Amino acid sequence: MSLAHALFYGVELHFMGLVIAIDGPAGAGKSTIARRLAERLGFTYIDSGAMYRAVALWALQREIDASDVHRVTQLAEAAEITLGAQIHLNGEDVTELIRAADVAAAASRVAIIPGVRRALVEKQRALGQEGNVVMEGRDIGTVVFPAAQLKIFLDAAPHERVKRRVTETPGAHERTVAGQIADRDARDRSRNESPLTQAPDAVYLDSTRLSLAEVEEEILKLVRARMTNGKEFH
Ligand code: C5P
Repeated sequence: MSLAHALFYGVELHFMGLVIAIDGPAGAGKSTIARRLAERLGFTYIDSGAMYRAVALWALQREIDASDVHRVTQLAEAAEITLGAQIHLNGEDVTELIRAADVAAAASRVAIIPGVRRALVEKQRALGQEGNVVMEGRDIGTVVFPAAQLKIFLDAAPHERVKRRVTETPGAHERTVAGQIADRDARDRSRNESPLTQAPDAVYLDSTRLSLAEVEEEILKLVRARMTNGKEFH
């Protein structure tokens, strides 16, 4: 089991095998927040969406349509994906490539396929089994780590999520991005297998009017509250 400690609010906290799950729709700020939290706590950051994007990229490169359930599942099973500062797919650095809009759209199509989800969830569980991870995605608190000690459902109003995406994507047009996000969210929320939904025991956080620092502070407060309530993360 992984050990980590962090000094905050002047108190040295020790963590053992803690999983923080952050789910929510596109553009809610999950990646930025999860990365900052992981840094602050000395945890490993795991971007589960990057895995769906990597499989989608491979399918696009091989010209395999997302409707070809069998072949896309085979790709997901065979894909060697490594996460970190750089994301590698079968040894190739795909960090930039997987951020393209067509890959994002394809990711939400391959994410519908049960076999793809099975293969990637297995990889995600293996990565998180040591604990002390902040993992973000759509189904982390509901399916991947239902026993995660802290679950956050991070949301923001649609117009704010679009604004954030436009700001971080050079040359992006607001109307196009709004359409892409709406399509992806609709697919993520309506699919049969592991749809995007808030786990009953997740804390709902609306970041529409909050700065990054404020969201981070809210989540750190939750971490601290659980620690001091005697629900230590063991
Ligand atoms: O989080 P990100 O935008 O990179 O995810 C890309 C797509 O991958 C999502 O729109 C969703 O369809 C899929 N995904 C998923 N389950 C996850 C993470 C991502 O279905 N845990």
